[in-house]
Amino acid sequence: MTGLPGGEGSGPRSQELFERARRVLPGGVNSPVRAFRAVGGAPIVFERGRGVELVDVDGRVYDDYVLSWGPLLLGHAHPEVVDAVARAAAHGTSFGAPCRLEIELAERVTSMLPWLELVRFVSSGTEATMSALRLARGATGRELVLKFSGCYHGHADALLVSAGSGLVTFGHPSSAGVPAAFAERTLVLPLDDEQRLSDLFEREGARIACAIVEPVPGNNGLLLQRPQWLRLLRELCTRHGALLVFDEVMSGFRVARGGAVELYDIRPDLATYGKVIGGGLPVGAFGGRADLMRNLAPLGPVYQAGTLSGNPVAMAAGLATLQVLERERAWTRMADLSNALERALAPVLAAAPLPVRLVRQGSMFWLSLQAGEAPRSAECVSPRAAELYRPLYAALLEQRVYLAPSAYEVGFLSTLHTPAHFERLARSLARGLAAAAEAGPA
Ligand SMILES: *Cc1c(COP(=O)(O)O)cnc(C)c1O
Repeated sequence: MTGLPGGEGSGPRSQELFERARRVLPGGVNSPVRAFRAVGGAPIVFERGRGVELVDVDGRVYDDYVLSWGPLLLGHAHPEVVDAVARAAAHGTSFGAPCRLEIELAERVTSMLPWLELVRFVSSGTEATMSALRLARGATGRELVLKFSGCYHGHADALLVSAGSGLVTFGHPSSAGVPAAFAERTLVLPLDDEQRLSDLFEREGARIACAIVEPVPGNNGLLLQRPQWLRLLRELCTRHGALLVFDEVMSGFRVARGGAVELYDIRPDLATYGKVIGGGLPVGAFGGRADLMRNLAPLGPVYQAGTLSGNPVAMAAGLATLQVLERERAWTRMADLSNALERALAPVLAAAPLPVRLVRQGSMFWLSLQAGEAPRSAECVSPRAAELYRPLYAALLEQRVYLAPSAYEVGFLSTLHTPAHFERLARSLARGLAAAAEAGPA
């Protein structure tokens, strides 16, 4: 493997281990974005994390703004989370039967999200959205699902669908292996477009089981939505008897204590969770109105199950995470930290040799490498950002700052980041932006 352009790339031990990985794992990874294809060079193999720091197998220490892609709002290896996990594990790692911790986490979640009456735990965000769709279809007796381009909802067949060409709203598979017949049951629209949304509901509203949306879309850059667009979506769903599903796998327990539901004061019928709710262990959840949730087996006809669902070790991590967040009033702190991030980066961004802006919402942030307004739909995101990001990324890694290895993924803050980290990020960013400008004028 060659090093990153303009940088030293990953260290010798990382490269050696990754060579071994490639012999036994497809592409050397268990999730594609980890392969660094978007930024070039070999991925870093990590040894351990503590607080906001990650240490790689070569002993290099990085400031981490990926934080496992969101779950670690308390940083790595928070002592209370580690302790809760160790205690739970010592009492048995799985029962396949009701356990105290799943009941406690369900009580905590429903008390933090008062509109959410019943919740079911699963083991990933993908499972949560997949199950919420089945529930929506089962509860309404309708087949069509509406999603929005640029929103990611995990890798269930019905959701690995992208927009058809032109004004066609019926989707086509965005992955090999997804039958076209499945994709045709998913409608795809751009975000931020009232007219097309109204037109579609006018035409197909009576056949739509649910609309699923990331209320704070964070998987194609950070595409902050206008509240009036989200409110229109809510109104149209209600008027046409379709359910509104908020995918809060990333935003839940992060953008506010009550997630995007609290932030926008818009109530969905169902919502999905993951990431923060498991504090770094495999947990997902979906829940909402009791009359809908009662359609799930064993109460109703919609089947859904999991051998490791409600697993005590995973529940303990989620519970400890939410307890610490509540105690530390983390959401107020994160808002302050986000302001501090903006203050620290402002001079560097203002003096940048190419167009760049900081888009942020609470502890989520994104460096948008294009001119003009911050984009609100995937269609408005510049494909050229990926090229600029490569040299920028190499420079950041060299300065031991670890951001997501893709121009279209957001960064995350934890409660342990401090203004000193942001000063370091600002200095590294200044060098990175200079390198990007040198590699090719915008
Ligand atoms: C990460 C993510 C998912 C998928 O969750 P996994 O645990 O990776 O399966 C779904 N929806 C959103 C909004 C996400 O950010």
